[in-house]
Amino acid sequence: MDLFVAKYLRMALIGALPLLFTQCSFSQSSKKRVVTAHTDMESSDKKHSSYSRTDTSKVNLTDEEWKKVLPDDVYYIARMKGTERPWTSKFEEFYEAGTYYCAACGNALFKSDTKFDSGCGWPSFYEPISKTSIIYTPDHSHGMERTEVQCGRCKAHLGHVFEDGPKPTGLRYCINGVVLDFAKAAATEKKYKEGQE
Ligand SMILES: [Zn+2]
Repeated sequence: MDLFVAKYLRMALIGALPLLFTQCSFSQSSKKRVVTAHTDMESSDKKHSSYSRTDTSKVNLTDEEWKKVLPDDVYYIARMKGTERPWTSKFEEFYEAGTYYCAACGNALFKSDTKFDSGCGWPSFYEPISKTSIIYTPDHSHGMERTEVQCGRCKAHLGHVFEDGPKPTGLRYCINGVVLDFAKAAATEKKYKEGQE
C-alpha cells in the first residue's frame, strides 16, 4: 500500500511540474512585459547605476547586488545561468533593424543584421558586435560539451554558441531573449519607412 501511495505521489508530482513551470514562466513573461514597457529607449539608459550603453568598463557586482537591481527573470538567466523556455522570446521572430544590448548592464552585443532564423526556439545570431563584447567559457553541464557565452562587460550568462550557423562565420549564438535589450536603428528605420511609401 505504501509503495502504491509513493508511486501515486510521484506521478502526481511529475504531472504537476509542467503546470508549475507554465505558471512560473507566465508570471515571468507578464512581468517582463511591464518592465519593457517602462524601460524602452531613453529611460532604459539608466536602469541601475551600473547600466550603461556607452561605458565599457567592467561591471563586478555580487549576486546579492544583482538581485536587487535586476528583474527576477533577467537575474535567473544572467546570474543563475537559467534558460528561458524555447519559443517564448519576443525577439525570436523579430527582425527590426537595430542593436541588441545586455539587459543586465547595457553592453552592446549583437547587430540585427547578424540575426537569423535558426528554428531552434531562441534568438540566434551568427556574429557578436565585437571581439570583446562576448566571453567564451567551456560548459560541461547537463552531460553536454558546450561553449557558454557571457557578456564581456558584466559576465551575465547569455546562452551558448554552436558550430552549425550560417556563413560567413558558421556559428550560431543561441541567446536567451530575456537577457537582451533592443534599440532600433533610427536612421535605418526612417529609410525603411520611406522605402515603403
Ligand atoms: Zn552585461
